[in-house]
Amino acid sequence: MRKVMRNAMPTMNWIILALLAVAMTAVAQQPASAPQNPQPASATQPDPTPAQPSPAPASPAPAAQAPVNLAPPTTMDQVVDRVIMREKDLIKFLSPRTPIVETYLQNLTQDKQLGPIPQDDHYFLGRMDLSESIDRSDYLQDKDKGKDEGMEKRLLGGLKKKFKFQYQPLGFSWMIFVDRNDFDRQHYDFHYARREFLGDVRCLVFDLTPKKDAGRGRFLGRIWVEDQDFNIVRLNGTYAHPSRNSYYFHMDSWRLNLVPGYWVPSYIYSEEGDFTAGAHNTIAFKAQTRMWGYNLKTGTPNDELTNIRVDSVKDDTPTAQDATPLAAEREWQQQAEDNVIERLERAGLLAPEGDVDKILQTVVNNLEITNNIELPRPVRTRVLTTSPLETFSVGNTIVVSRGLIDVLPDEGSLAMVLSHELAHIVLGHNLGSQYAFNDRMLFSDEATYQNFGFKHIPEEETAADKKAIEMLKASPYAQKLDTAGLFIKALQQRAPQLSALLQAHLGNNITENGTVTRMAQLGTSAPALDWNKLDQIAALPLGGRVKLNPWDDKVEIVKAQPVAITSARDKMPFEVTPFYPRLSRFSTANAPAPATAAAPTTTATNASDSSAPAN
Ligand SMILES: [Zn+2]
Repeated sequence: MRKVMRNAMPTMNWIILALLAVAMTAVAQQPASAPQNPQPASATQPDPTPAQPSPAPASPAPAAQAPVNLAPPTTMDQVVDRVIMREKDLIKFLSPRTPIVETYLQNLTQDKQLGPIPQDDHYFLGRMDLSESIDRSDYLQDKDKGKDEGMEKRLLGGLKKKFKFQYQPLGFSWMIFVDRNDFDRQHYDFHYARREFLGDVRCLVFDLTPKKDAGRGRFLGRIWVEDQDFNIVRLNGTYAHPSRNSYYFHMDSWRLNLVPGYWVPSYIYSEEGDFTAGAHNTIAFKAQTRMWGYNLKTGTPNDELTNIRVDSVKDDTPTAQDATPLAAEREWQQQAEDNVIERLERAGLLAPEGDVDKILQTVVNNLEITNNIELPRPVRTRVLTTSPLETFSVGNTIVVSRGLIDVLPDEGSLAMVLSHELAHIVLGHNLGSQYAFNDRMLFSDEATYQNFGFKHIPEEETAADKKAIEMLKASPYAQKLDTAGLFIKALQQRAPQLSALLQAHLGNNITENGTVTRMAQLGTSAPALDWNKLDQIAALPLGGRVKLNPWDDKVEIVKAQPVAITSARDKMPFEVTPFYPRLSRFSTANAPAPATAAAPTTTATNASDSSAPAN
């Protein structure tokens, strides 16, 4: 017997995220809890007894090899040699891989009350080929693409300044390596700065400057090197000497130890702009770049055909009886559903089944039980790995994007989101049965958005909203719809500036032309939205809720210590913030979902919410 779970999301109930702007000073980067360095660091003498690289634990997925057990370096020059060698090893290790790279950017404007807030936004999603140079192919169709491609490649990283600012998606991912081709002593000077902890990992910090005649586009900034194998774990800086029509922006690039011996580029934060008095801004933006899908197969169409043939061999239909027409119809829908889910997972757009699904599933169960909904097949939930706020359902599977789960303030608002899709299923608004034909799965990953679509007609949207509100009112969430309504109001206020974040790629848009259409009725009955009310949290920043493992695409809920919100500017609804993952070394204990957080650990409690879990 299923029971109503009153507290499906304890974490989500009380962790309200407000990412505090972390000063990018070295002091701020040192966590207070980090063990003290027992000896003063010396510029010429590294730690006399650096720990030996630990033997590589048996790793299930990756065909990675831990670095050869070399003798520990005894001089700083030897450390630098090791750093260069490890960076080259990483480039080689990643060269057969084509991770997904997503960049979400918000252009900023100054609001008198709230400080810099989004003015408009851009979204890029592509696959990066790390084999020869760094190249990327886009999932999104770009009207302007083609004529600028040569230009894009020449510019390396940055903005094109010609007629108007135009962001080059490739530029945001450039800082995954220090220097793809020439990371060596001939091109760079290394200056040891100090030792510092990043999370659990003790690092040596170096400042890098390109030599005078090293040429354009050389890295200028700081690198953090872990002190066991001497892998770079973080890069922070820019590129030197842009050409006349280009501009390199600043980046903070983080790597995670997701496979034995290698630190994999995972997050890059970029920010430009100056809102000090008298500053003449031409640009101001914040951008998050995420990489994942490193372990995805780079399938050719032939591989895909083989995979599908193998998958479709299994036949679970009972042999004792023939299918009735209705049973056949359901079987057909199940087949379409399975095809779509499997194909999206293979394209890196859907996370494998995991703990986040269980949370979503619990909320769905609560809605079903209290509304006496009995479906022939159970409703399943899955998480889309991308940031844009969207949901859709295929067959009996409800899919919610990572970005949408991130910004939802509480369980009631999650129930609102899920109830709409559950309503489609209950009302029999089935989409996607054409995908029961396997040939429809034969397309390149980059063409997913052109080949899949799960958009309902407006009449079905209206009917689903109506049914959803009915279900919510009969559910345990009936008394918690104020926050859901506030979320709708906050979304309404920001929607005109966030068209890229609100552009659904597979399902229906939540807004149309800057106006919230989905579940809009809940917004009208909600209390007044007041940014100055510190205990009113209507929507969270991006990245605060769900962390995505860049190696195996698994998602989990972020564990973070709450940090109090002290001003309206701390709320940052729907906004981009810096990354501050807690670094830790690979271990089988935390694999395959390492403890390294995808989101900054600065969080805030909503005082009224934290003390009041659902009873
Ligand atoms: Zn819908």
